[in-house]
Amino acid sequence: MSARILEGKIFAAQIKESIKSEVENLMEIHGITPGLAVIIVGENPASKVYVANKHKACEEIGIYSEVVQMPEMVTQEELLTQIKLLNENPAIDGILLQLPLPEHLKHDEAKFLKAIDPDKDVDGFHPVNVGKLAIGQEHLLPCTPYGCIKMLELAQIDIAGKHAVIVGRSNIVGKPMANLLLARNSTVTICHSRTVDLPSITRQADILVVAIGKPNFVTKEMVKPGAVVIDVGINRLADKKLVGDVDFEQVKEVAGAITPVPGGVGLLTIAMLLSNTVKAVKLRHNIQ
Ligand code: NDP
Repeated sequence: MSARILEGKIFAAQIKESIKSEVENLMEIHGITPGLAVIIVGENPASKVYVANKHKACEEIGIYSEVVQMPEMVTQEELLTQIKLLNENPAIDGILLQLPLPEHLKHDEAKFLKAIDPDKDVDGFHPVNVGKLAIGQEHLLPCTPYGCIKMLELAQIDIAGKHAVIVGRSNIVGKPMANLLLARNSTVTICHSRTVDLPSITRQADILVVAIGKPNFVTKEMVKPGAVVIDVGINRLADKKLVGDVDFEQVKEVAGAITPVPGGVGLLTIAMLLSNTVKAVKLRHNIQ
């Protein structure tokens, strides 16, 4: 058996198409152009590529996008002032602080994320939005796990009643993914680096989500035949090849469905950022 391949570009295109028509409606009916500001501190090359991709995606669907480039040695106060200006700027509906921050600001990351207006927090990392998700009041949701859920829904894969096993418990992927699946009535197990006998747990999964940052870590022996495997990992090997956390070639022979890397859930992350920006407009202007 060979698994159904869940191609990110197909689902991302569907999502973008529907956001594009929402953006057109916002302009035509309400005279509003959604606006997204991305703050980038320093010259991290990978971050620059991500930010350029986000800017391009906004332009493609008619969202106004502003890249705020700040110098590597920016002070805490300068960064907080910039966030405050964007919070108060009526042309900006969504604010994203590109991570990682330079070394001298890293330990205060939580403080900067908390400074963003929760109603403009299109990354879904503000403690208010994290808390809302935890108590089942979904507001602005973290883009990567939200993208995984959207993909499952668009692929018409049942979530309710299924045993979902998530490997990885980070604040940006594993934990929000667990809450999103729980809210959709999955039975959820979260695994991490201290989990004992991981394969015995992953083999129980109807839906297996892997987000650990270890190339080709999940092998076919760890997967139940027919399971849906969502690979969030993005790892660059010494030969520059990009691979996920799942050994795609092996696992596709046992899984029922699987996301590839590259070309899987990564493509939905940006689509969900656009979706969150439109949602932020609607929240701010009380539009249904
Ligand atoms: P983190 O490093 O923040 O967290 C990794 C998690 O994996 C931790 O909870 C850790 O456990 C767990 N872990 C590590 N090793 C093992 C192991 N051997 N067995 C079981 N659990 C393990 O990573 P992120 O969540 O930020 O990212 C994970 C991956 O997803 C990365 O490859 C990243 O590049 C990718 N990513 C992709 C995105 C996309 O758009 N597609 C967006 C964000 C991330 P513990 O808590 O015990 O240390």
